[in-house]
Amino acid sequence: MNHPTLTIDPGAVAANWRTLAARHAGEVAGVVKADAYGLGAALIAPALAAAGCRSFFVATLDEALSLRALLPAARIAVLNGCPPGEERTMHARRLIPVLGSLASCACWRAAAGDDGAPPSFLHVDTGMNRLGLDRDEAAHLIAHPDRLDGLGLTHVMTHLIAAEEPDAVENTAQQGRFAAFAARFPWLRTSLANSSGLFLGPTFGSDLARPGYALYGGNPTPQGANPMRPAITLAAPILQIRAIATGETVGYNGTWRAARPSRIATIGVGYADGLPRSLSNRLTARWQGEIIPVAGRLSMDLTTFDVTDHPAIAPGDVIELIGPGHDIDAIAAEAGTIGYEILTSLGPRYRRVVKSV
Ligand SMILES: *Cc1c(COP(=O)(O)O)cnc(C)c1O
Repeated sequence: MNHPTLTIDPGAVAANWRTLAARHAGEVAGVVKADAYGLGAALIAPALAAAGCRSFFVATLDEALSLRALLPAARIAVLNGCPPGEERTMHARRLIPVLGSLASCACWRAAAGDDGAPPSFLHVDTGMNRLGLDRDEAAHLIAHPDRLDGLGLTHVMTHLIAAEEPDAVENTAQQGRFAAFAARFPWLRTSLANSSGLFLGPTFGSDLARPGYALYGGNPTPQGANPMRPAITLAAPILQIRAIATGETVGYNGTWRAARPSRIATIGVGYADGLPRSLSNRLTARWQGEIIPVAGRLSMDLTTFDVTDHPAIAPGDVIELIGPGHDIDAIAAEAGTIGYEILTSLGPRYRRVVKSV
């Protein structure tokens, strides 16, 4: 390996989708927003479609337009809804807005032709207070269900705020609020669980689950072992190794000081590549399965490791940043963030290698 390399395994993503589809009674979609969480939608979406995935969620209209070019027949829903004035664009490309307010419902209906509006989803907020009908709008629709006529609605959805915490009381509270709302509109299909929601039990079942993170190998059950297959590895060759004396420091501002004569290895990956700078003095990488601790602050383009305990390590050897024994959840924990942010921050400078089956 001559370059920092991100290896992506679309076969693992497809296998993860099949795993989730097998444990869910309803349909399972694929959430491929943010360029398939950084892995590359052009690579991932066709792999999911080949595995049998028929429905996809993206965040924005532009993401949906790109995805439509890849998947002419898929159902594509836009979580952030239809930007005002773009209704015709969405009609023409058969893109589905997730309507989250009475105002956006009115726009979607107004742009429809005589045949009524093309398909749409309705989002009801049950606790996130972010997108979706608020409490007053939901109550208004319950009192005036005819307000939903002519909107092309097929599904009603909501989003869980703490699905990765199985004991959070908010899960059952949201599920109850959602069920009560959906029961008023029995002709609409339902969409509830994200990745972690699929592991909360049968009451969180719905007609269309919306997993993202678990498809990409993230752990949807952080209290326990990861049931998903890893979908990426990230590794970089050592550029240089130097010997330093006791008392010398490494990196900006000298935050790491050698307590003994030490060997320091440098790789060409830094925070500009999406490694959080909060990994400074916290990251543990791997070399041939052995733990290699970071030394000092991450720089923009470089990261330094203390390899004193591994005299066999030589320049050109490969340091694994994400891989067996150190998955995306582990590096996220060291950085004080979540694996989602690690994935969606993966930078543009890596050599991207597609693992073939
Ligand atoms: C991102 C997102 C998902 C997917 O969530 P994961 O935790 O990645 O499975 C599902 N639904 C909505 C509304 C989202 O924004």
